[in-house]
Amino acid sequence: MEQSEQKLPFTVICGRKEGPSVLISAGVHGAEYVGIQTVMELSRELEAEDISGSLVFLLLANPSAFRNYTRFVVPEDGKNLNRVFPGKRNGTLSERIAYTIVHELQSQADFYIDVHAGDTSEEAMPFVYFTGVAREEVCRASEAMAMAADTAIRAVSTAAAGAYSCACIHKIPSVLMERGGRGMYTREEVELYKRDIRNILIHLKVLPGKERRRMKQKRVDRAVYLEAEQEGFWYPKLKAGGTFSKGVLLGELKDVWGKLLYSCRSEYDGIILYQTVVLGVKEGDPLIAYGMIS
Ligand SMILES: [Zn+2]
Repeated sequence: MEQSEQKLPFTVICGRKEGPSVLISAGVHGAEYVGIQTVMELSRELEAEDISGSLVFLLLANPSAFRNYTRFVVPEDGKNLNRVFPGKRNGTLSERIAYTIVHELQSQADFYIDVHAGDTSEEAMPFVYFTGVAREEVCRASEAMAMAADTAIRAVSTAAAGAYSCACIHKIPSVLMERGGRGMYTREEVELYKRDIRNILIHLKVLPGKERRRMKQKRVDRAVYLEAEQEGFWYPKLKAGGTFSKGVLLGELKDVWGKLLYSCRSEYDGIILYQTVVLGVKEGDPLIAYGMIS
């Protein structure tokens, strides 16, 4: 089989003063455009005079999905890039991208911010994941980064194969950020997202100044991730960011004749982190992710 090649565009800014090295990546899921536009703009707006340390911006981690409007996967091999870390040197394209990010970029970084969005079929409330599965000091530093973002929620994650989880396991404090989705982006979302990243960089003392915030942030310790057990028509009942009490109907899956296949009721009082908002789903597609607020 022919090995497909991929060029990964990146920008490096070496600051005028000493400080940590921070990696910021976008487009691990290539059609999560809010994150991609945000990181691209930020890489052009920040100035070396203001920076203590260095910033590496990976502008598009999954360029073929970006061009093709492909959700979840790298089109060349059909794999979810965020589930193949730390990757393989001679693996499929996804595995080689992951390997390159780990060995060429994460290995040089003191901190890492992976900027996502809801995918083309999803809407996400603004929130930040921090790790709960690394060494204690890394978990603490990761949570402190999440707390710097001006989002209403930070959520602990126990995933191990994601880009930022892999960095945390290698002792690099990291976060994953979410906002927006549906294959769209708005000026307001991009501006708010840039402010969140600037806040984290101020917290890390890479940028001068004071963090700017409006939100009082809460922590989600427990989350439910529901997938479709069969294909069908999906009818979510609330919006991402919506809160609810135990037993509330969050969505229904029906067949083409309108027969109810599945009722999704909440297991506890919680908040919708992200959900699928397109009508058609197939077996294994994500339906909804919700969390319990501590
Ligand atoms: Zn994503």
